[in-house]
Amino acid sequence: MSFRFDLASFEFHASAVTPVASGNRRFIILAVTETFSCDQLLCDTSGLLIALTNDEANTLSLLISTEQYLGLLDGEELWVRTLRVDAGNLPESYQWLGLRSQLEVLSPAHFQLAGRALQIARWFYDHRFCGRCGQPTTQDSLDFARVCQHCSLRFYPRISPCMIVLVTRGDEILLAHHHRASRVMYTTLAGFVEAGEGVEDCIRREVREEVGVEVGELKYFQSQPWPFPGQLMLGFFAEFAAGDIVIDPTEIIDAKWFRYDELPQVPATATVAGQLIAHYVGLRRTINNNNRPNR
Ligand SMILES: [Zn+2]
Repeated sequence: MSFRFDLASFEFHASAVTPVASGNRRFIILAVTETFSCDQLLCDTSGLLIALTNDEANTLSLLISTEQYLGLLDGEELWVRTLRVDAGNLPESYQWLGLRSQLEVLSPAHFQLAGRALQIARWFYDHRFCGRCGQPTTQDSLDFARVCQHCSLRFYPRISPCMIVLVTRGDEILLAHHHRASRVMYTTLAGFVEAGEGVEDCIRREVREEVGVEVGELKYFQSQPWPFPGQLMLGFFAEFAAGDIVIDPTEIIDAKWFRYDELPQVPATATVAGQLIAHYVGLRRTINNNNRPNR
């Protein structure tokens, strides 16, 4: 799946302030079911994620459920519109596709934008009513916030910080095969930051819990929004300090040290896990090549 907006000038400016809806809008379209499940994106028959013009969007006969403003895309207003898939048929020139399966096909910027559309649309359905007093919420005029008019509680799109860590020991890296993986693949360790916990503490705790080892120095790498449903993945390297691998069998099937040049199946570089591994492999390769004696 690629994106019809594959312009060299692709530029997106996010905004929470909704302008007066004009006739000159683009839409990322999402399907919403009767139970407000909302994770399918409108694509064309070749699997291209599309951003429809106002006129194109209005030809779809499905019932419009919600619309939210996302920002400016190459100077044009970009909105996310949800359509009730249980109330009408989709024309044959379109299909619904989930975002997760498109991870390796979309550019990082387009993946992030589509993920933002999903998260903003879901946020509305998850916060139509106040979780404290049960009254309906309304949209704030300045923020991406739903506000309870009865008790003033505000609800922002939920973003959950989650650490992802590559444990390293010289030429070796520690990778695990998780129960949640759909195929045999070894990857980095990851876990949600708990309430009241710093991300560094989370890394040390999760590594200890999942594979029984202690880590020393931590080095931040980079982050990635992960809209399944709302994680912010914070990628780190962690130097091994002590301990033998003892796995937590409830989460992990197997964990091992692998030499950087003898790796098993690892995640794609479209993910932070894949990027952490690729980055470290590059580092070790450079170090070892530089240390090789000249002949
Ligand atoms: Zn309330």
